[in-house]
Formats: sequence, structure tokens, C-alpha cells
Amino acid sequence: MAYEEAIEGLNKLLSEKKELESVAASKIEQITAELQHPFNPLEKVRAGFTHFKTQKYEKNPDLYGELAKGQSPKFMVFACSDSRVCPSHVLDFQPGEAFVVRNIANMVPPYDLIRYSGVGAAIEYAVLHLKVETIVVIGHSCCGGIKGLMSIPDDGSTSTAFIEDWVKICSPAKTKVKSEAADAGFADQCVTCEKEAVNVSLGNLLTYPFVRDGLAKKTLSLKGAHYDFVKGTFDLWNLDFGISPSLST
Ligand SMILES: [Zn+2]
Repeated sequence: MAYEEAIEGLNKLLSEKKELESVAASKIEQITAELQHPFNPLEKVRAGFTHFKTQKYEKNPDLYGELAKGQSPKFMVFACSDSRVCPSHVLDFQPGEAFVVRNIANMVPPYDLIRYSGVGAAIEYAVLHLKVETIVVIGHSCCGGIKGLMSIPDDGSTSTAFIEDWVKICSPAKTKVKSEAADAGFADQCVTCEKEAVNVSLGNLLTYPFVRDGLAKKTLSLKGAHYDFVKGTFDLWNLDFGISPSLST
């Protein structure tokens, strides 16, 4: 449709339906803004880096000078890939402070050299080479991965190539929630599962021999957490496996 035709059509509609004028006005305003500033991913990335470089990198030469020599983060963090839960933002981690793995629903799979070598390599590197002191697994509110896990039919059938098979890592959490909170609504069950899945992941960390060693030697501790971006809260807890002494948060 030519531009003139489109405008003519709009004018005709508005002359017949005056009540649409205010809606049309706000939409035209929106279109005007979009035409003036079309979203450009290249520009977004360039502008983002320029901001970082001028406001952070060039203002902290000591920090970036140290980081050029190496890293010795105290934390390893598991967080969801969800765009709303970046742990560096939420916990104010500076570069060099946290070794981070992000995946669907912040899950730690059990030790498996074939299926989960990517996560295994990250844990091995963090614990044995970087010697992180604390591993934190952070669940979060409104997690689509957990909702997906809770939505898998009882017969276990799946319709996705990767997603459901991945989130089944935390099936024990789903089973627990379905039996212990059977009467709760689906949304509440999902919230409970977001937290129980963190505990399953903490348990799975014990299947890595170097994690168990670190706990036994008390050079390593494990923490669970749940970030709720609806309420703006962050819960942190210990899980006592009987291997490490119970620590207060
Ligand atoms: Zn999530």
C-alpha cells in the first residue's frame, strides 16, 4: 500500500469513528519516535561499550590493570539465562569477583562426562584452578524454565528438542512440590519449585569429587539463593549436607 493510500485510509476511518482519534494520536506518536530512532543492534552494542569504556574501564585503571594479569574470584555463581537476573547487576559483582555459569533455570546437572561436560568443565576450573571459596546457586521469580519443568505432563512426554530434557535435571524438585504442595495453585507451586530446584542443584554439586573434597577440607561452601524481582527481595541459605559445618548467612 502506498503511503498516500495509507494516510487516506486512516483519515477516512477517523472521520467515521471520532472516538479512535486519541488512540490513533498515541500510535502515530509511537511510529514517529520509532522512525526517528530505529533500533539498531550494532549501535546499541557500540554505544554500550563506549559507555563502559569511558565510565568504567578508563576510570579504574588499577582494577583493569590487575585483571589483565589474572583473575581470582571468590565466588562461583549459577544464575538463570533470563535477561532480568544478571548476577553482576543484582549483587553488584565487579569484574573479577564472580565466575559465572548461566543456563536455563540455573541448574547444576549431576557429574556426567558426556552429557554435561560444559558445566563440569566450569565447575572443575572454578574449584580446582581458581579456587573459589563459595558456590552460589541463584533461582529467581517467574522462571520460565521452572514453569516448563512443572508443566511437563505426568507421562514425561516432551515437545521441545532441548529445553524439557535439560530442566528435567531438577525433576526431584518437581516431584517434591507436587506431593508436598499438592493443594497449592500452579503459580505458588512454581515459586516453591524455584527454591527446591536450587536445593537439587546444590545436591548435584556433591556428585563432583573436587566439590566434595573442598567441602570436607572447608575450603569451599555451597549456598542457595532466590532472587524475587517482583518483590525486590533476595534470600540466601545454607544447605547442611553433613559434610560441611553449618554456616550462618
Ligand atoms: Zn529462569
